[in-house]
Amino acid sequence: MKAYYADEQKRHDPKAFLSSGAPQPNPEQPERAVRLLAGAIAAGCTIERPADLGLAPMAAVHTPEYLEFLQNIHARWRRIPDASEEVIPNIHPLARNGAYPASAVGQAGYHMADTACPISAETWRSVCWSAWSAAAAADAVMAGDRVAYALCRPPGHHAFADVAGGFCFVNNSAVAAQRLRRRADRVAILDVDLHHGNGTQGIFYARPDVLTVSIHADPVRFYPFFWGHADERGEGPGLGYNLNLPLPRKTADEGFLAALEAGLRRIRAFAPDALVVALGLDAFEGDPFGGLSVTTEGFSRIAAAIAGLGLPSVIVQEGGYLCDELSDNLTAFLTGWSG
Ligand SMILES: [Zn+2]
Repeated sequence: MKAYYADEQKRHDPKAFLSSGAPQPNPEQPERAVRLLAGAIAAGCTIERPADLGLAPMAAVHTPEYLEFLQNIHARWRRIPDASEEVIPNIHPLARNGAYPASAVGQAGYHMADTACPISAETWRSVCWSAWSAAAAADAVMAGDRVAYALCRPPGHHAFADVAGGFCFVNNSAVAAQRLRRRADRVAILDVDLHHGNGTQGIFYARPDVLTVSIHADPVRFYPFFWGHADERGEGPGLGYNLNLPLPRKTADEGFLAALEAGLRRIRAFAPDALVVALGLDAFEGDPFGGLSVTTEGFSRIAAAIAGLGLPSVIVQEGGYLCDELSDNLTAFLTGWSG
């Protein structure tokens, strides 16, 4: 299996993070990329560097004003007297149908959902290479590979068309799905991250050509709180093309696999031409977020079940945080996929 990754993805090194109001180290560390790379190599992947594909793959799923914001906001922010080193919002619009602010502070609040995605001078560069890794993996699958892995870091599934959030800036899974749509009439995205893929859901919510399915810890008491509930089913022409499968906290392998079977049934009925797997490894029992209790062996079984769909597939890295088993969990998933 080919794995796509560029070392520039390590440059983004966020510091700020608030957990229940208390400042903590940001969990989305560059070291994640090191461990995930080791896990992919241990699974027998060959590591390929993506090409610089410019703005096009990102502009296919994000608004121009948002991409301009991501690109320029840090330099603008640093011109504010006494501003923080990283861009962190402190005010948000309650409704998004009003005026678009001209100020850097106003735009940070408009385009950033929370304080978990601080932007530094290096963020944009890492975000681009992460998105290009996703696009390159999709291109490989369109060129005939049955499966490809994109080691996307920073991750993407909490990013909406014009909003960053939850460590995510550009939605790499959406980039891959939209890229696959060049050849595939119908694409399914299956998100197995601990957290609901709210950004991905938002991007495709009104579309019947991209089915979004997410299995995650029940947001009634878990991030992202305002999305991921079972009654969110899509809207307009997209009604019925979004499926959320929230799980009780600490659900282990058997419960996760049962939900996965329901998700796979929906995907089979949709009969897509290609699949994107939004692969979070933070459903692991030892992940610092502690929401679900999937085991290392469980990831192998999850992968085998998804691979059983027999679809051309792009596996896009989402969450999964620093713990001793992070590399092993990726290796388990990728080897489980290949049988
Ligand atoms: Zn997550």
